[in-house]
Amino acid sequence: MRDFSSDHRWLSINTATVRRQHGRDWCLLDILDACAARGIRAVSPWRDQVAAAGLTNVATRLKTHGIELSGYCRGGMFTYADEAGRQQVRDDNLRALDEACTLEAPCLVLVVGGLPGALAGRPAHHDIAGAREQVREGIAWLLEQARARRMPLAIEPLHPMYAADRACINTLAQALDLCDALDPSRSGALGVAVDCYHVWWDPLLQQQVARAGRERLLAFHVCDWLVPTSDLLEDRGMMGDGIIELPKIRGWVEAAGFGGYSEVEIFSRANWWQRDGGETLDVCIERHCRSV
Ligand code: ZN
Repeated sequence: MRDFSSDHRWLSINTATVRRQHGRDWCLLDILDACAARGIRAVSPWRDQVAAAGLTNVATRLKTHGIELSGYCRGGMFTYADEAGRQQVRDDNLRALDEACTLEAPCLVLVVGGLPGALAGRPAHHDIAGAREQVREGIAWLLEQARARRMPLAIEPLHPMYAADRACINTLAQALDLCDALDPSRSGALGVAVDCYHVWWDPLLQQQVARAGRERLLAFHVCDWLVPTSDLLEDRGMMGDGIIELPKIRGWVEAAGFGGYSEVEIFSRANWWQRDGGETLDVCIERHCRSV
């Protein structure tokens, strides 16, 4: 297992971690400058942040600083209630793929969607099995487009508390079953993003990480699970402040062959988004050395 204690060369910052400091959006270009100033070598930006800063501007700034991506957030949201919705999903995912290519991302991360309409508070139906079938169809379709662009797809299983509104793929086993069905040759075109926040509780985690292996382990996300947790979405903890055994899980992932970045992804409305962005980044660096 790699030693992270003396430097942060394998730290990546998911830019949602510093997206909204003191209640105001922090421009992605400024985030990149702040990361470069701290020797952070990789980031994973969100599409809305890229759109706000301008795709070409972001690509140029990444090049200027020599910062690479550890992933691109995100594609997916494959479920739909009608034909227009289906077309919208496809158009949007093609745009996400093209942006990922422009930014030379190593993979496009997929949050697959839950019941259609649920994110807006109006689920069109209650058929989660049907939603999962749409996800399977959607990924099968997108995989063809992604192969043509040589852009790997990383399915991110989300904690079951998000099954209704964000992702009906909730365990690593479920994600890997899809990978096996759609990419049986383990070509590297389809894999998983292992986010410790979503999968730490899973009794099959170690076994499924080993099953995934190097070809399927495309991204590794870290933060911590706070006890108690006060918000389902925006109360993620800094590494070391909660109960996830991060070094243990990183050991499993690396034993399976993963040698990429560990990406810090923290949504924290009441704490880390209330600080100066530079301070949050500094603490990420320190905790990456000490608690990951
Ligand atoms: Zn994640």
